[in-house]
Amino acid sequence: MTLQTHPAKWWVREKESIRCFLCPRHCLLSEGKIGYCGARVNSGGELRTYSYGWPVAIQVDPIEKKPLYHFLPGTKIFSIGTFGCNLGCVFCQNYSLSRGKYLSGQDYRFFEPSEIVALAEQHRCESIAFTYNEPTIFAEYAMEIAALAHAKGLKTVFVSNGFTGLEPAKEIYSLIDAANIDVKGFSEEFYRTLCGGSLQPVLELVELIRKMGVHIELTNLVIPGKNDSDEMLDAYLDWVENKLGLETPLHFSAYHPDFQYNDSPPTPPELLRKIRAHAQARGFVHVHLGNI
Ligand code: SF4
Repeated sequence: MTLQTHPAKWWVREKESIRCFLCPRHCLLSEGKIGYCGARVNSGGELRTYSYGWPVAIQVDPIEKKPLYHFLPGTKIFSIGTFGCNLGCVFCQNYSLSRGKYLSGQDYRFFEPSEIVALAEQHRCESIAFTYNEPTIFAEYAMEIAALAHAKGLKTVFVSNGFTGLEPAKEIYSLIDAANIDVKGFSEEFYRTLCGGSLQPVLELVELIRKMGVHIELTNLVIPGKNDSDEMLDAYLDWVENKLGLETPLHFSAYHPDFQYNDSPPTPPELLRKIRAHAQARGFVHVHLGNI
């Protein structure tokens, strides 16, 4: 059985092809072609998504695992993810989902948005997270779930790489209460060479959703020798301080060699502690370490 697809939003026709503008990659797709994310396809001259209704990961987590430490602390969060990703990080720590091939539809099933919300209630979760893989690429599904969740009094969370088009983001985040955004390294070169993307759209997304009133926590996966220089760290902290303020929760987490990347050793805990001490000395109030 192959997956049923669902009509996708955020695209325009360009001659015989389709331009998707859900994320800054703006894939141009001829008939039958699947986007970079692996989740959206030009089918019969329309953009359709493989991600609507087919979560491949469903779990109840403590909200601190997202990580969110300053939003509904001590509660459970119903967490779902699909497959695919719109970035191509060579060090991906979750590549079985981000680069996984699930188009066969085997071993998992369709869930209506209302079923996800009902399951969250059954498990006494106060919120629902769109997480594990990049939720931007299953935004149509997430938005329907989020609207139903709000109607039931549940909060909604995006755990995202922030690589989302600003116009779609205005719609998506109007239904999202809190987000953990992964700022992977504070340079364009880092994003270009190791993530196949760009930093600037991520920063613009964070600034947009802050203005929209979304609770924001930021995560940075620290890769020794790649994104941990004093200059890069200070540039990151300067930007957070200027745009979001010193109260912004920051998470620095340990990396381990994975997927296509083996050039850096696992992050030593003492490096994370040094970064935390530096951020705290600069006045950041909420600095958390992860994966140690
Ligand atoms: S969401 Fe997917 S198909 Fe759309 S532009 Fe981004 S990578 Fe391409």
